[in-house]
Amino acid sequence: MYMPNNISDSIPFLDLAAPHIELEKELTGVFRKALLTAGFIGGPMVEEFEKAFASFCDASECIAVGSGTDALRLAIMACGIQPGDVVLTVPHTFIATTEAISQAGALPEFVDIDEHTYNMSVVMLQRFLEEQCTRGPSGRLISLRSGRPVTGLVPVHLYGQMADMDPILRLADEYGLTVIEDACQAHGAEYFSGRLNRWMKAGTMGRAAAFSFYPGKNLGACGEAGAVTTNDACIADRVKMLRDHGQAKKYHHDVEGYNGRLDAIQAGLLHAKLAHLAKWNTQRRERALEYNCLLARNESVIPPYEPAWSRSVFHLYVIRTDDRDGMMDHLKKANIGTGIHYPIPLHLQKAYASLHYRLRDFPVAERAAVEIVSLPMFPQLLPEQQTRVVEEICAFTSVTAGIQAEDKEYSMVQAGQAP
Ligand SMILES: *Cc1c(COP(=O)(O)O)cnc(C)c1O
Repeated sequence: MYMPNNISDSIPFLDLAAPHIELEKELTGVFRKALLTAGFIGGPMVEEFEKAFASFCDASECIAVGSGTDALRLAIMACGIQPGDVVLTVPHTFIATTEAISQAGALPEFVDIDEHTYNMSVVMLQRFLEEQCTRGPSGRLISLRSGRPVTGLVPVHLYGQMADMDPILRLADEYGLTVIEDACQAHGAEYFSGRLNRWMKAGTMGRAAAFSFYPGKNLGACGEAGAVTTNDACIADRVKMLRDHGQAKKYHHDVEGYNGRLDAIQAGLLHAKLAHLAKWNTQRRERALEYNCLLARNESVIPPYEPAWSRSVFHLYVIRTDDRDGMMDHLKKANIGTGIHYPIPLHLQKAYASLHYRLRDFPVAERAAVEIVSLPMFPQLLPEQQTRVVEEICAFTSVTAGIQAEDKEYSMVQAGQAP
């Protein structure tokens, strides 16, 4: 039985059922239509959603696929990244980012993040290109660590905020890298491009971009789903071919592809929800502002940083604090849900032991991983609930701040400097 989150005392990290209660009639109508027409794969429901999502993103093309991971892998392949090429990305992201790179046949290499935005650091990217690469005989950019050509770059728009795309695109251009955006957390996020002198939507700045409609994303399916956006019709055609067994025409296979299509039912459900996405994103921004105000005077907590060039859609509201685990424990006892996105940077994951990265290779990502915590964030979150979350945070930090002050006093006494 669904309990609206305002009458229960516990505060969930996320409330996935709320939008389904609001849209129940519309959503069940989609099921009925699919059952009666038996159009389950492809067809008008998918095409109509693709058109609508392209328009939402200001992109000329949208190709719906089975998941965000598929979207990123197919986008990387369709952009012409070759097996054995190096694709640069960040270690502070969900593993799907690097799975897509590896499974497209390429090799992921990492660039550290910026400590304020948690997205790719432009300074570290430039340093990588200048100091950790060389030019091969034919003038190709070669990574010194792997000896392989560097041809691709995947900035991740983490937590709903876009990476600093102007300088990233300028460096990519200078070094001949193809940029594929991981926009899986950034449906509707915007970036003010000084170069173009206008706001740009996530999914329109790289050669192609990947979106996920995993249920917990800002736009979530009732199952698995994803999409590629691009302004390049040739790349769109290649993604369409790759998602459908490499065929341009039934049983004429130009290349070996995948079974990567989107179900019509998911497309229909997504289309119904898409009509509400702008409103939901606005509500997330309002909730984020509320948190910012409530947390403003707590010096033990660093709130999210939103540069003037960014309009985040706050997929997650991530704060940073010294005793992260203690705080999560305290909130758990107060029945408040939290999360860590993500606790282990990718270069230190067992799955990537073969890449031979070591502790301290990416110190900014490593420190973030132990200090970040994601607070409850969803459009239907109530201001009263936020007040309670922050009261509990302050109850916790005032106690730990007290302990730290005592510790200091104690060590001063030891050193013979008693006040
Ligand atoms: C969710 C997510 C993905 C993968 O999407 P799926 O639909 O789960 O395959 C990729 N990258 C990032 C940053 C994500 O958050």
